[in-house]
Amino acid sequence: MLDGMPARLWSCTPTKLDTWLSCPRRYRFTYLERRPKGAPWAHNSVGAAVHNALRDWWTQPLERRTPDVAAELVRGAWIDEGFRDAAQSAEWRERASAMAASYVAVLDPEDEPVGVERTVAHKTHGLALSGRVDRIDRRRSEDGGEELVVVDYKTGRRPLTDDDARSSLALAVYVVAVRRTLRTRSRRVELHHLPTGTVAAHDHTEESLERHLARAADIAAEAAAADAEWRGGLGGLAEDAAAGDADAIEAIDAVLPPSTGPGCGWCDHRRWCPQGQDAAPAPVPWAALADPA
Ligand code: SF4
Repeated sequence: MLDGMPARLWSCTPTKLDTWLSCPRRYRFTYLERRPKGAPWAHNSVGAAVHNALRDWWTQPLERRTPDVAAELVRGAWIDEGFRDAAQSAEWRERASAMAASYVAVLDPEDEPVGVERTVAHKTHGLALSGRVDRIDRRRSEDGGEELVVVDYKTGRRPLTDDDARSSLALAVYVVAVRRTLRTRSRRVELHHLPTGTVAAHDHTEESLERHLARAADIAAEAAAADAEWRGGLGGLAEDAAAGDADAIEAIDAVLPPSTGPGCGWCDHRRWCPQGQDAAPAPVPWAALADPA
């Protein structure tokens, strides 16, 4: 770096930081080599269709913001990938439609969100953080003013707790990015679990946000150092490593090691990772769907 020149900000999303934390080799396959993902997962198809439908629901004229239209939008946005067969896909299309319909049934259609799938960004701790928030609500705060609430939709089978909302690095990053982007107070994060209709929430303090940002900076420092090594020559070994050259594999693994565990079964890059294949069996693509009620 030249004297007087600002250090270059390292750009990242919470997902990128999470990927580094969960497995540096997965980070390499995803962000450095950009290898194609494996076969689609049915639960991702469900999640994407519901998210897209809820986004589009808010773009409808007021009279169409009804449960029936939410269900119709899920059917229209349906992604027929990862299911066991057409019958399972059709069953889940209807379950997801019903889930979206009952979720919007308790919303006030006139309570226009400040943002829907809104990209927000913030520069801090040498990082250029950005991410897309499912929904940003405007709420009345205790002092009579206004504050913005970060809402994240969840469609997985596991119910969520307030602790999940409190400990989520992504949600904390969104709060500071919402503040910065929309120039309005924000501290509350909410996980809306559609299958159960429950909300897990946390009100951040300045201290808790700072703790999350410091943690983000620590993770980013490690990932950025690996990025620099990759660009500085390590990436030139990628082809040899893919061809099975033991020295190349060892050199890359020294910087971007595999981190094996039960999550390897769900890893989109498992097919290129012998250690991951040994660590966990691959579930069927529809395994994460909740059991039929
Ligand atoms: S299979 Fe496991 S060890 Fe291999 S890249 Fe994926 S998460 Fe990492």
